[in-house]
Amino acid sequence: MKSRAVIEREAANARETAGQHSIPVDPIAIALAHGAEIVEDNFADDLSGILIRRGSLKTIAINQKDSLVRRRFTIAHECGHLILAHEGEIFVDKQVVNRRSATSSLAIDEQEIEANQFAASLLMPRDEVVSHLDQLSKSCSQRSALIELMARSFGVSKKAMEYRLVNLGLVASPDDDDF
Ligand SMILES: [Zn+2]
Repeated sequence: MKSRAVIEREAANARETAGQHSIPVDPIAIALAHGAEIVEDNFADDLSGILIRRGSLKTIAINQKDSLVRRRFTIAHECGHLILAHEGEIFVDKQVVNRRSATSSLAIDEQEIEANQFAASLLMPRDEVVSHLDQLSKSCSQRSALIELMARSFGVSKKAMEYRLVNLGLVASPDDDDF
């Protein structure tokens, strides 16, 4: 399992390669800069995305029925599989953010966890998160509203932003209060 620091650095390098220096980060630009094409498809509701990697062919397919923030996160997640050089030719991702599969092997779960960490790091760069939180918290003190404002700024779901803020130790876990 790659360390969080390695994944943060890979995400920063990926943004640099694609010339993505401001938020919201464009995951499509990241995918294109790494040689992947993006297609939208009419998948079953619980299928978020597929990455196919065969030789020089790299295709990310995303569910056109998903919301914009979910499609953005899915593309970032598939970029994670690609850029972290995960094993496999085809990755099929269902409900990417909260994916917990008891039937997958440990190795596959590790790749999924890494891809999710990569996606969060890619779309919510730590330094940007810290500075935006600092700015926004001057005018907004209510936890839920603050997370919503942050989520909008970064083009991610509230849930994804909340995970990121908790993981970075910037807000308390929801278990710590009655939120
Ligand atoms: Zn995946």
